[in-house]
Amino acid sequence: MKHIIILGDGMADDPIVALDGQTPLQYAVTPGFDFLAKHGVNGTLCTVPGGFSPGSEIANLGVLGYDVNKVYEGRGSLEAASMGVDIADDEVAMRCNLICVENGKIKNHSAGHISTEEASELIEALQKELGSDTVSFHCGVSYRHLLKIRGGRKDVQCTPPHDVPGVDIDGALPKALSENAQPTCDLLVDLIRRSYDILMTHPVNRRRMEIGKDPANMIWPWSLGYRPSMLPLSDLYGIKKGAVISAVDLIKGIGRYAGLDVIEVEGATGLYDTNYEGKAEAAIEALRGDYDLVFLHVEASDEAGHEGDVDLKIRTIEYLDKRIVQPIINAVKDMEEPVAIALLPDHPTPCHLKTHTSNPVPFVIWHAGIEPDSVVFFDEQSACHGAYGYRTVLEFMPLLLNS
Ligand SMILES: [Zn+2]
Repeated sequence: MKHIIILGDGMADDPIVALDGQTPLQYAVTPGFDFLAKHGVNGTLCTVPGGFSPGSEIANLGVLGYDVNKVYEGRGSLEAASMGVDIADDEVAMRCNLICVENGKIKNHSAGHISTEEASELIEALQKELGSDTVSFHCGVSYRHLLKIRGGRKDVQCTPPHDVPGVDIDGALPKALSENAQPTCDLLVDLIRRSYDILMTHPVNRRRMEIGKDPANMIWPWSLGYRPSMLPLSDLYGIKKGAVISAVDLIKGIGRYAGLDVIEVEGATGLYDTNYEGKAEAAIEALRGDYDLVFLHVEASDEAGHEGDVDLKIRTIEYLDKRIVQPIINAVKDMEEPVAIALLPDHPTPCHLKTHTSNPVPFVIWHAGIEPDSVVFFDEQSACHGAYGYRTVLEFMPLLLNS
């Protein structure tokens, strides 16, 4: 049996008054999802273990069968894998945002969603001025970059910049959580302060300010960690050859550490205009070939949730159904080796909150010949009546592989 996990990021939601108390999953027309629910086995899954905030990286690590208590080392180190940057055993890596500061306060965490082209010039300047044998900056995408410190410690408390818009810089600076971490903390504070002078006078920012855009005038390091020690899925679950298909660096990075091949799909944007057909075709081709596990991640519904756009969220769900799930169901019916399909979100991103929550999500597992339960629709409430019942995230992979 081969396996495919189709994950609609942030697809789960809360009941919405404008939809007569239905959730987007209940309201959307999704014959493919409902085929899986009706002919498969359903349940609900707690994807965010206690003590963790409901980040996509936490939930997706769990869905792939990793215990975040043991392997989670922050966003930076996961994104590093996707950027092709190695983290040595004596290095600490972290997300390094380019942010916009105004009057000593954080104006925004994204420097007005600066373009990657502009950001790469700024990161290059930072590396030239602040880089050393100890400190290195690596360019990622838009405002999301990477900072590594050789000999650094991870027990430094750093504030995620998106949590503190409008807050004074001085009150939000890194704090050492141990005496040993003080040198790392002092270095980070020094880098933050010196970055302002370098960035503020850089031609890229001069140009941005001239046309009324936010300057990317400070770095903001956060989410520190060492190289994750993740066993590949081949060792953990006997997966012979697996692949990840996603537009998101964080997910591709997790895939790399998990020993999966990253299949790039042209036009996969991470937004609602993503290349759904291309992703479906890539997944089908992988399953027809020698891959025995495919992890297909679609970001669009999460973005719609963050925008609080109910209509858009419904559309992204219907696109996932019609343009990915239905073609995959049809394709696997003709495949020589049977394929089990799992469908789930990683966490809810309720439109009224515009952010993630830790509530349980619905999940379904289907393959030809599986004994179905009584559930007929794929949504948050129907899944509560599924035969799998309520599960914790580490039970998901074994359920799928032994279904
Ligand atoms: Zn997510």
